[in-house]
Amino acid sequence: MTIRIESLKFPELNRIGSWRDEGGQKVGGYYTQEEIRQVVAYASERFINIVPEIDLPGHTGDIVATMPELSCSGEPHMVGFGTGLNPRILCAGNEKVYDFLYELLDEVFQLFPGPYFHIGGDEAPKSEWEKCPRCQKKIKDANLKDEEDLQAWFTGRLIEFLESRGKTVIGWNEILASGTVSPKAIAQYWIESGSEYSDKEADKGRKFVFSNMSAFYLDYPCALIGMRSIYNYNPYIIDGKPIPKEQVLGLEAPLWTERVIENSHVERLVFPRLLALAENNWTVEKDFTDFMSRAGSYTEYLLEQGITATPITECDYHGMEGARMAGTQIVEVVTGFTQAQKDKELRGKALRQLGCILLDSFLKRSGYSQDEQALAHESMETAIQDMGF
Ligand SMILES: [Zn+2]
Repeated sequence: MTIRIESLKFPELNRIGSWRDEGGQKVGGYYTQEEIRQVVAYASERFINIVPEIDLPGHTGDIVATMPELSCSGEPHMVGFGTGLNPRILCAGNEKVYDFLYELLDEVFQLFPGPYFHIGGDEAPKSEWEKCPRCQKKIKDANLKDEEDLQAWFTGRLIEFLESRGKTVIGWNEILASGTVSPKAIAQYWIESGSEYSDKEADKGRKFVFSNMSAFYLDYPCALIGMRSIYNYNPYIIDGKPIPKEQVLGLEAPLWTERVIENSHVERLVFPRLLALAENNWTVEKDFTDFMSRAGSYTEYLLEQGITATPITECDYHGMEGARMAGTQIVEVVTGFTQAQKDKELRGKALRQLGCILLDSFLKRSGYSQDEQALAHESMETAIQDMGF
């Protein structure tokens, strides 16, 4: 990923950090501040509050590619290095990092006047912090137990700053891992591991937004995230306890558009699945059959309006047919994740491993039988073999 917001205080972030090289092609771009103001105003007129996310300290590889002095090693690297889980992150032991962040965030607050601010906090590999004398000194000086605790401390400083600006903080559920993060921070539950710490935090009365990857991620195809998966979902931590209603702020269906370029593709992924999310959010007495008949008519209406919605019959796979489709469609997803691997044998291995892990998490959520699960794995294997692996 690259930097998507224009900074007038740090223009180098856009000149360098907003663009990456992909096979000799310059890929990227960013929203100007004027464009962001237009989007925020358009949403506001429709009573929609846009919550910005600046992911910290993970997913900051493109900040440190622009300003290597803010990383632990100080060594330069390419923008877009290791797209996804990138070990190059901001140094938590360097005070200059905090000065930079406070200045940058103050600039971002001017664009987004709403009360909430998302600080990410997910996918922050700690390998650089483990080797960095400054990070290790900070752990010692602040009496922290390890690098995980250092992330909580880093997050704590951001929360303090954000609260001083009147903002309520939201972070992905990994911010809870240390058990020491401020109880005021809202957790957005996406990754279905770490139920042990999420459970404990729920007991403390923490508030949650639910956007579980295997129930709501709209960048995944319909056989994996279908209408019934979204509609029937009740907010709970997987393998854990239900969360008291007053601690559930709502449900969100993320659509990560890094590789979704065309508007028609966005529409196909969003509609009609967004209808299932909306009705789940506001309805107490749910009736899936009744909902699907109404959603079918509404999808027809959307198509008549020129919106490229997915036909309703392709949004609700289940049983043996659903399992077979899930096995095939998971390969489309993992193909994207493993593109950077050039070695054919390793890539085949990665496709199978990642495919199995992801497929199982979707199958578990959707309540498929043993036979259906076996069929899903079989159809995944066939699809991988068809690709020549
Ligand atoms: Zn460091």
